[in-house]
Amino acid sequence: MIIVLKRGAGEAEVQEINERLSQEGFKIHLSQGVEKIIIGAVGDRSRLKALDLEALPWVEKVVPILAPYKLVSREFQSGNTIIKIGDYEIGGEEIHVMAGPCSVESRAQIIETAHAVKEAGATFLRGGAFKPRTSPYAFQGLEEEGLKLLAEAREETGLLVITEVVDVRDVELVAHYADILQIGARNMQNFFLLKEVAKTNKPILLKRGPSATLEEWMMAAEYIMDGGNYQVMFCERGIRTFETYTRNTLDLSMVPALQSLSHLPVIVDPSHGTGRWNLVPPMAKAAVAAGADGIIVEVHPQPEKAVSDGKQSLTPDNFASMMAELEILAQALGRPVKGAHR
Ligand code: PEP
Ligand code: MN
Repeated sequence: MIIVLKRGAGEAEVQEINERLSQEGFKIHLSQGVEKIIIGAVGDRSRLKALDLEALPWVEKVVPILAPYKLVSREFQSGNTIIKIGDYEIGGEEIHVMAGPCSVESRAQIIETAHAVKEAGATFLRGGAFKPRTSPYAFQGLEEEGLKLLAEAREETGLLVITEVVDVRDVELVAHYADILQIGARNMQNFFLLKEVAKTNKPILLKRGPSATLEEWMMAAEYIMDGGNYQVMFCERGIRTFETYTRNTLDLSMVPALQSLSHLPVIVDPSHGTGRWNLVPPMAKAAVAAGADGIIVEVHPQPEKAVSDGKQSLTPDNFASMMAELEILAQALGRPVKGAHR
């Protein structure tokens, strides 16, 4: 349910409605628009009738949200969520490019990559310190040492850091080092992890599970918002289909679909979405053309030597060429690529 207050309603009115709703067992979420205040109330709808909120003088209307996702929906918040991180805004006009290796492997590797992607116009450095791998025998990540190296690269370049957290026990640790916490595809429905990252004050990049429907994905975001963290962005990274040429099928139709149903920013990952480096630049451009708020791509100084995902990693040169093309495209769309030179 959303309760739209009349223009001019203030704190005292909100307070009174909140008290009434809490007494009936509702969970309250406030959305303060430019013109109006909207109260989102999640709970047993039948108990709302007894409150007869529409009879209150400062309540304009009470609207049920029929979809299972409430807080992530456009009904709850009609304007886009803009996530502010440092000087950056994700979800507004700016397009952000997050780039770096699949895994943090060594100081030399992460520092070299950070300088290269910064130079080409990225704003965020990606890199996995905890690696969820299909095989238990594959490299599992440098863990805290990797987080420290990411922080060092941030110090040196000014890039902000996005990295994945895979376990509830590591949330505090990863949040200490990262600027954005990534929830990986394999963990999209790890509800305990979602509830735990909801308790942090860090923005969350929520990757789509390889077989998740749009609704399941939105419900996962709902967990994070319901837990009190409103800074959530979706990341389309491809789904499993019958096609085997590409690693996954990058479902770009999700960009406009999500934007019509939700106010949260949408990022696209063409690296995991295709699994082949030469398909990454064209799909990155397609993502921006489709309206994505940013892209996240894998870049490695020597992809052939990468401990993970070398096949889909761009060299620094290929990344720079892609950025130049993205800037031209973004200009045509009237959106600046933040961090780019032109
Ligand atoms: C990654 O970003 O390296 C990763 C493991 O991605 P995903 O969770 O989308 O597979
Ligand atoms: Mn990877």
